[in-house]
Amino acid sequence: AGRRAQLRVQGLSAGYGAFLVLRDLGLEVRTGLTVILGPNGAGKTTLLRALNGLIPRTGEVLLDGEPLSERTHEVVKSGVALVAEGRQLFPQMTVLENLELGGWLVPKAERTRRLEQVMSDFPKLRERARQAAGTMSGGEQQMVAVARAMMSAPRLLMLDEPSLGLAPRMVDELLGIARRIADAGTTVLMVEQNVKKALAVADRGYVMERGALVASGAAPLLARSSVIREAYLGAS
Ligand code: ATP
Repeated sequence: AGRRAQLRVQGLSAGYGAFLVLRDLGLEVRTGLTVILGPNGAGKTTLLRALNGLIPRTGEVLLDGEPLSERTHEVVKSGVALVAEGRQLFPQMTVLENLELGGWLVPKAERTRRLEQVMSDFPKLRERARQAAGTMSGGEQQMVAVARAMMSAPRLLMLDEPSLGLAPRMVDELLGIARRIADAGTTVLMVEQNVKKALAVADRGYVMERGALVASGAAPLLARSSVIREAYLGAS
């Protein structure tokens, strides 16, 4: 395994038309699992969209020192994968077919190899390979969405609220999966609302408010910081 992928963002601004959501944002992702926390509407999803070329942006985005393209398919080619909120699976297609679509950029032989890897990383999905994705539980579908993203063997994986709407046990399972992916060498940048659980698995965290990152630090320290405790954990 080579060196872990690093993302460096400086002076990033992005929004919708004339409505600027992110202003002059800076961010560095160097450890295995980084979580971005913050209230609804803070701009977390907008940040992931801007980084993946889904909306226009200004500023500097460097992946391992190289400028990251603003075109989504080029972003994918350079080894970045996004699991967007809402998963966006093809519900009528089987789990296997959904996974194969995740490897669309990969040559056939390589795709078969990756499929085998993903199936052994997600044994539950091997059992369900022939099931229509839309008939699975929310947690299982989220697992398929993450597995599909891993089909492109990304250096950097971005997850937008992977635990959204899931039962507590599935939340733990999905966050555990994010942790394992990071431990296996893929850099993971994750947006989460589940503050306590996310900080328990992450290496570092950022807090976003009104389009700006207002705090950052090692996850255990952040969990104990007053900004997090007062705003999110209901502690004094
Ligand atoms: P959530 O957890 O609710 O998704 P978030 O932190 O991800 O919150 P964003 O979804 O990035 O926040 O939204 C940031 C701001 O951008 C909000 O004010 C939102 O209303 C606005 N916004 C989001 N999507 C669009 C869009 N397609 N067009 C216009 N404004 C948008």
